[in-house]
Amino acid sequence: MADDNQKAKADVGKKKEDFEFAKILGEGSYSTVVLAKDKSNGQKYAMKILEKKHIIKEKKVAYVNREKEVLSKIKHPLFVRLYFTFQDSDKLYFGLSFAERGEITPYLRKVGCFDETCTKFYTAEIVEALDYLHQLRIIHRDLKPENILLNEQWHVQITDFGTAKVLEPGSSQCRADSFVGTAEYVSPELLTSKNACYASDLWALGCILFQFTAGFPPFHGANEYQCFQKITKGEYSIPDGFPAPIADLIEKILILEPTERLGAEEKGGFGPLKQHDFFEDIKWDTLMEQKPPPIKAYLPGQDLHSDMNVLDGMDADGQDDFDGSLLLAGLGLADQSKPLASQSDDRKALLAKQESNSPWSPFCNGELILKAGLVDKRKGFSCKRRQLICTDGPHLYYVDPVAMVLKGEIPWSEHMQLEMKNFKTFFIHTPNRTYFLEDPSGEAQQWVTLIENLQKKKKSVN
Ligand code: ATP
Repeated sequence: MADDNQKAKADVGKKKEDFEFAKILGEGSYSTVVLAKDKSNGQKYAMKILEKKHIIKEKKVAYVNREKEVLSKIKHPLFVRLYFTFQDSDKLYFGLSFAERGEITPYLRKVGCFDETCTKFYTAEIVEALDYLHQLRIIHRDLKPENILLNEQWHVQITDFGTAKVLEPGSSQCRADSFVGTAEYVSPELLTSKNACYASDLWALGCILFQFTAGFPPFHGANEYQCFQKITKGEYSIPDGFPAPIADLIEKILILEPTERLGAEEKGGFGPLKQHDFFEDIKWDTLMEQKPPPIKAYLPGQDLHSDMNVLDGMDADGQDDFDGSLLLAGLGLADQSKPLASQSDDRKALLAKQESNSPWSPFCNGELILKAGLVDKRKGFSCKRRQLICTDGPHLYYVDPVAMVLKGEIPWSEHMQLEMKNFKTFFIHTPNRTYFLEDPSGEAQQWVTLIENLQKKKKSVN
């Protein structure tokens, strides 16, 4: 921290010409955040640049001042730090610590949900950060995964203080004249009495903990109104298979009455929250010196959705018998000795057969189906049964087998990696997301081999 203070002093009186500007790190509603390097010492910053005209036009002057005021008070490794500000004729510049790994959300999206170790560590860091923030009498008011950034060592760096509020000494809540925050994480007291208090941040913490484990937030709806309805009624349900200590902690935090929430001043503050069973093995004093656990997915019990009954009216194993015979032919491996012309004749004949026989043909853009079968596609605690169709495109389409609607496609990429877990379960890692798939008929190995062969074939053609 001493180093940080020295750096902050040295940063007084900066100007635009002192920096080399590189890539854009992100865009906010009123700002662009750009990676900037201090020419004098190579120090990297996330430079938040705000256009004065735009801020005035959008009536966001108070918002910007608030962010600056709050950020200048915060000097803690679990928060983005404001080192300096300067301006020129048309722009304001905020020199922030650079969170190299960016937002936590893409990592969460990629794995679907975090395993227990990962959930515990990151939730503990958020708890520790809130403990510090509330000691400064600051309420964040917009805590959500998008505002949780990660630094180079994968530790949390909380950001976005535009809607934060510094409370007067002795006061424990503030009025919000308009809705502040984000629908899914906003607390019931803000919706019902337009009051926010320290425990409003705890509510958001409970929502984030739920989302880390489930892959989706506890309160959601088709629109904001529906979401708010559920929040004000405290209407959420914990999916079966949730680890018991996490479920217990969520139930103790997501309580409508703010003073009853674990971690609230009236419940003894952060001490009892940190002592909850879920955090039993967390060493709070050394949290920031610890190496964060690798980000891994939580895969709930495999029989979680065994009661799904979308197989009605299909073969017992849900496989399309028609496709088996196509597999080798479609791969072009059936008879390599045949002249090319006759191979394409074969393909045409197979396509014609496919069109008349296969219900999946309309989803395949005229490509030959190499394999099709039912899989359970998991994302956190949600599990959807889909017909997975691998074509010679190559493409991996998935179709809702009940509504017979194309739901999407696993984007084919040369960087895609296949992982075989057991005879039923396999993962497809794409650059942006990992798909967790379970083939109830136990053909995980066939899927993996087919897709890997197609990858090899595509590489050799390119
Ligand atoms: P809004 O202010 O509209 O709510 P926001 O809070 O996302 O949006 P910014 O704080 O301007 O807006 O940030 C925009 C994006 O820039 C963020 O979503 C994040 O991806 C990136 N970003 C912001 N601060 C940093 C930082 N310190 N290090 C790395 N990336 C950052």
